[in-house]
Amino acid sequence: MQVLTSVVVLGVIFTVFIVTDIRSYKQRRERITVSLAQVLGSNTISAIQFHDNDAAHAILANLKNTSPEILNAAITDSAGHVFAAWGRQTLDTFHIPKQLANKNTLYRDGHLYVRQAIVDNGKLMGYIFLESDMSEVQQIKRDKIEVSLILLFVAIGVAYIIAYVIQNYTSGRLLTLFNAMKEVGKTGDYNKPLQDKGKDEIGQLIGVFNNLMEQVKLNQQRKDEFIGIASHELKTPLTTIKGYAELLKQIEDREPHRTYAERTLMGVEKLERLIQDLLDVSRIQSGQLELTMKDFNIDKLIDETIASVQMVTESHSITREDSLNDEIIAGDQQRIEQVITNLLSNAIKYSPGERKVIVNSKKTDKELIIKIRDYGMGIPREEQSNIFERFYRTRDTSFTITGFGLGLYICKDIIRRHNGKIWVESEKKGSAFYFSLPLKQSGNGVS
Ligand code: ADP
Repeated sequence: MQVLTSVVVLGVIFTVFIVTDIRSYKQRRERITVSLAQVLGSNTISAIQFHDNDAAHAILANLKNTSPEILNAAITDSAGHVFAAWGRQTLDTFHIPKQLANKNTLYRDGHLYVRQAIVDNGKLMGYIFLESDMSEVQQIKRDKIEVSLILLFVAIGVAYIIAYVIQNYTSGRLLTLFNAMKEVGKTGDYNKPLQDKGKDEIGQLIGVFNNLMEQVKLNQQRKDEFIGIASHELKTPLTTIKGYAELLKQIEDREPHRTYAERTLMGVEKLERLIQDLLDVSRIQSGQLELTMKDFNIDKLIDETIASVQMVTESHSITREDSLNDEIIAGDQQRIEQVITNLLSNAIKYSPGERKVIVNSKKTDKELIIKIRDYGMGIPREEQSNIFERFYRTRDTSFTITGFGLGLYICKDIIRRHNGKIWVESEKKGSAFYFSLPLKQSGNGVS
């Protein structure tokens, strides 16, 4: 668009320039020819007075050397009869154009015709006519068009290069902004403001984006602080309630009092798990989730965790298909148990109506990979990368199955800090969650 505008503007400028230049050249030539006619006219007055045709012709013939652009010249008396005529190439005849009968200059077919009255003491003695060659005008026009075209192409080239550089600079910055927005949308990481020193609209846009990120970050910090404080404050009274509910359950034999105490206890335990998750999230956010690393038998831990989840589950049967032969790894046993429990509970929770949950585990050169597979509702591909974000719940499940979207976020952090990985595969029916843990000998320093 910029290049096109430059071409149009330059085209107009060059056209105006050529037209005015040619016009002023013609005017200049006209003035020179008129002056020449005036001089010749005054020189021939006496020849006319004395009817000396030869003298008049000689004056005209002198033009051959002095004015190479003059092609024909003629002198007439006041009645219009030719008195003397001279021609550069033709015979000394000059066909004076009829139009010159009532005007002094005429352009025709690349020739300029001038008529100048010869006056002596106020008396009209006759006229002098000159025909001047103007073919040079065409040549000048061609030269100017040629130069203009060259300049136009150079200007287009320069305009294109400038436009290309500006465009690259502008769209490069827009692309950076676009990618940063996409990245923030995907990762929820608001800690990476964009660096841009531009003062133009894009610079301002980037400034607004950075401000927005800063505000979201501050709000998130406030929310995290609130979650941390609130869960701490809730924990103490909940422990008291739990204690009394347990006591009541132990000492009360009468029904329905005992059932009430049991239900209270179940509700409290659910609340306790939520508060525990919230506290974990708050610790992760402030970098205070501590791991107690020691060697433990992961094989046994998987079996025990399956057994304890199975104990409170009637709807599903959890099957372990292979063994790790008492493999020992270094890690935080309680936290790894928390990960397995969470994945198993999810497998059960998100496969209502199904009966099977399968656990696999295998050892490779460097790591152990544990897989928990269900045959439930699965996870849409586009949401698979989001489910490990805190508070994220998929569209399909958020209204039908209760949850807070914290479990996988905590699992991810625990596994990451064991230098492992956690991921999901969900194609047709159900989902398979995997996590890997480095083997002891491959060195698993914990961050
Ligand atoms: P919660 O289960 O409390 O919502 P999680 O962090 O454990 O939180 O899980 C996040 C989301 O991931 C869930 O809300 C659910 O949408 C999806 N999800 C997790 N596990 C499964 C699974 N096995 N099958 C289908 N969806 C799952």
